Amino acid sequence: MLKEKVLKAINQQINNEYYSAFLYLSMSAWFQGKGLPGFANWMYIQYQEELTHGNKFFKYVHDRGSQVDLKSIAQMDTDFENVISVFEKTLEHEQFVTASINKLMDTAISESDHATQSFLKWFIDEQVEEEASVNEILDTLRLINGQGNGIVMLDRELRQRVFVDDTVTAAE
Ligand code: MG
Repeated sequence: MLKEKVLKAINQQINNEYYSAFLYLSMSAWFQGKGLPGFANWMYIQYQEELTHGNKFFKYVHDRGSQVDLKSIAQMDTDFENVISVFEKTLEHEQFVTASINKLMDTAISESDHATQSFLKWFIDEQVEEEASVNEILDTLRLINGQGNGIVMLDRELRQRVFVDDTVTAAE
């Protein structure tokens, strides 16, 4: 059984992950509407990844003999200023998620929950990757000023991304 403080923080993190999924699904829809199917594809894969993150926490809570407490998902943005602002928002959101996972790790440490600390390492590494990939796209977008032929080229590139469920290959 998980200690109360750790369980409460993980249940909150499950909500954060599913909120992230819906935020990226909303961004995917926005890109689709703007005629950018590659960007829409990239965001749709983000959505799928976030679902697997939520599900990984979900399974962990049950593996520890505790109870998942699902909360409602807050309304996410559905309209965005431009392509650059979508990725700025994405980076900002991932930085928030990183901070919340770090706080969760602090709680696991202060509660001497070694299993949760070990479990969270996967997410800490994952966040480094998440922020790096968003930063890379953001750098390219700024170089091309978020418009013109560059956007069309980048859209083609992002169309190549395929979904891989990292949560089943690692730490299982
Ligand atoms: Mg996540």
